[in-house]
Formats: sequence, structure tokens, C-alpha cells
Amino acid sequence: MTERRQFRAIKGTRDILPPDSALWNRFEQTAREVFESYNFGEIRLPIFEQTELFARSVGTDTDIVSKEMFTFPLSQEFEKSTQLEEGPEQRELVSLRPEATASVCRAYIEHNMQALPGNTKLYYMGPMFRRERPQKGRYRQFYQIGAEVLGQSDAPAIDAEVLEMLLVFFSRAGLTRTTLYINSIGDKNCRPQYVELLRQELQKVKDQLGADSQRRIETNPLRVLDSKVPSEQPIIEKLPRISDHLCDDCRAHFAKLKDELNLRGIQYEENWRLVRGLDYYTRTTFEVIAEGLGSQNAVCGGGRYDGLVELLGGPPTKGIGFAIGTDRSILSIEETGNAPAPDGLSVYVAWMGLASYPTAVWITRKLRDAGLTVELPPEEMKFKKSLGLADKLGARYALILGEDEVASRTFTLKRLADAEQKKLTEAELLEYLESERRR
Ligand code: AMP
Repeated sequence: MTERRQFRAIKGTRDILPPDSALWNRFEQTAREVFESYNFGEIRLPIFEQTELFARSVGTDTDIVSKEMFTFPLSQEFEKSTQLEEGPEQRELVSLRPEATASVCRAYIEHNMQALPGNTKLYYMGPMFRRERPQKGRYRQFYQIGAEVLGQSDAPAIDAEVLEMLLVFFSRAGLTRTTLYINSIGDKNCRPQYVELLRQELQKVKDQLGADSQRRIETNPLRVLDSKVPSEQPIIEKLPRISDHLCDDCRAHFAKLKDELNLRGIQYEENWRLVRGLDYYTRTTFEVIAEGLGSQNAVCGGGRYDGLVELLGGPPTKGIGFAIGTDRSILSIEETGNAPAPDGLSVYVAWMGLASYPTAVWITRKLRDAGLTVELPPEEMKFKKSLGLADKLGARYALILGEDEVASRTFTLKRLADAEQKKLTEAELLEYLESERRR
């Protein structure tokens, strides 16, 4: 007997089914429209890259790189057997991307984009992979929509415009109950001194901290500020704050950013503990949280990363960007009741008698060309059964096509909500449905 095995999606991955997928498409489409209105262009990136790219940019001490990446070697045997050109890089380890900023910077360098006029403004969307403990709002394959500005300028107006674009997008996508948190974490001139001070202060209270925070005193003291452990909160509140230790340039940059946000009517809250988990950030960091999500409530994170391109072997370049978590954004839109009703099925073509079938095929094509969603049953059905199915599928109208209609070159349109019927010519039918569609 053959074993009957039921295949299931791997833990931490999931299928997005209709009608949810329509909401996803609309969310992504809105991002395209808003980002393109700010003159961003789409970049489509590979799903996997050299592991070293992520190690160098995201940072080897981060959870993402140290334990969450899906990494595999590109086997030499395979390369030989498929006659691919062999280069040293093909034997290196590769990882499924845990985020996309590193890839955008790699592409910026590879395609010499610094030679392009003005700032390079790119957006991307797609799946990311992290081996995290799955829970609601946290998956191993999740989706991000991100945008990056790379170039020679670090003007605070760039940061402000990026934040404006982000919030315009969220509000247009129906994600309205959000809070924007901002912070500045300094740059290479002032951050190291602050981190050292923080380390010293943390040493003094080490005994009162949990194992994770104790470890981070050595590896990455800033990350202690991220801690959600309740007993650590009163201790963290008393630690020195970066805002009191910024150098003059960083302080001026942050002050100007706040002016720019006020100018644009953008509401924000300052959060000195917002350091973000990735190593490459400098100066501006930000996060957006949304309602209806419980503990996994961050829907977007981002910040400035001047110097990252250089770190990856490119020319001196300033950069800023963000990544929106699509899974959580959609959850929040659904849970706060802001999800638009899907358009659904407009017309079900209930044809009867083989003589009406050619007309049914042809009118279906015409209605679809006019932008309507139309279902044409592939086999003849009894009238009652056909209308019953139209109802179950949630169609708004049934277009009844029997011998009478074919003989009189008309169509009977039945509105399923109230059973109102009209006899219409083809021109009248198209005009009527077109005006209904626009309503
Ligand atoms: P990060 O790249 O960690 O700054 O994440 C940016 C955004 O991506 C977060 O605010 C989340 O909305 C989303 N995100 C990050 N990790 C996950 C995950 N494992 N599952 C779902 N969404 C995630």
C-alpha cells in the first residue's frame, strides 16, 4: 500500500488565498502609485545573495545574521555537472535574503548608479526569509515593501520626504491608526563614545539584567535598549540617553529633521530607545507601529545608513530607507475594519440551450473587455441550478441567455439582491453595467 501523505506548507510559511490576495495586490499597487508619484523607480532583486553581503552590512552580531539566515553552499559538483562557468564566488555560501537594503546597495555599486544624475530613488517589494520563532505577525517567509534614497546628500529634507511618502502611503492604503517614532543614534563621530559610556553604565547594573542583555553589554550594548523584559525597564530608563551625547552635526541634523516634519504636518513621537536591530544605521532611525497587532506591532522600520555603500566596497554615499512589513500591515488593516470590500463577481452568464452558447461566449468577452468580472459556466446547467450557483458565488447580476433572448437579440439582466429584471439590447446592457461599475 502506498503511504498517503498530506503535504503542508512549511512552518513559518503560508499561502495567501483569495479574497485576501486581492487586498495584498491593492496594498502593493497603492505603494507603486504613491512611490512613483515621489519619483521612485522599482528595482527587482535576486532572492539570494552571497552570505558575506548580509554579514558585512546587517552585522555579524545581529540575531538576523548570527542565527536566522537560511544559508546553503552552492555545490561545486552541481556547478560542474551543469557546465556553468566556474568562478571563486560560486563556491561561496549564499543566503536567502533576510532584508533587501544590502542588495539595493550591492546593485547600486554593481551598476555604477552614482554616475546617474541626482539622488537614486528605488523601491522594491517581495519575500524575505528569517528563521524566527513563528507566531502571529511573525513568519519565516514574510513580505516587505521598501524604499531607499542613495546619493551624495544627507539633507534632512530627504529623511522628511521619505517619512512623508511612507505616511501618505499608509493612509491611502487604509492603515490609519499608526504612530511614527523617530530618534537619532548619532554617527561615527559621536556614537562610539556614547556606546562606550553605555557599556560602562551597563556593567554597573549587570547583575540586575537578564542573560540576553548581559551578553549584549559586550556584543552590542545599544541592543539592550530594545529589551522588552519587564524587570529591566526601570534600569534602562535611568541609562544615559543618546540625545544628550550627539555631536553638533548630528544634533543639528536631528533638529532640522523635526523642523521639516513640522513643515509637512507630520506627527511623530521621539523615542530615545529606538536603536533598531541592524548595525548599519546612523543618525535618523524610525519605526511605525499600528493598532490591532498585539506584541508584533511594528509595521515599518527604517533609517539613515550613510557609509554602508562604502562598507560594501562602493564610493562614499549617503543613504536612507525603510522596510514595511506587508503581512502585519494587512493584518492591521483587516483587524481595524478598514479592509475595502473586494470587488468580487459582477456578472454570472446563465446560458441555456446550445443555440445560446456562442452568444454567451461572445458577450462574456465583451463584458470582460469592459473591465467587469464575469463567470461563464463551461457546461450547460439547468436554469435553477445555474442561478443558485450565481447566488453562491456572490454575483451581483445574472445575465440570462436562453432561446428567447437569442431570437430577439436581447439579454435579460437580473439583479440578484432584489430579483429585479430588465430586458436590454447589447448597447443598453454595456452602458448599464459600465455605469454600475463606476458607482
Ligand atoms: P526590519 O527589517 O527588521 O527592520 O523589519 C521591518 C518590518 O518588517 C517590521 O517592522 C515588520 O513589520 C516586518 N518584519 C520583520 N520581520 C518579520 C517577520 N519575521 N515576520 C513578519 N514581518 C516581519
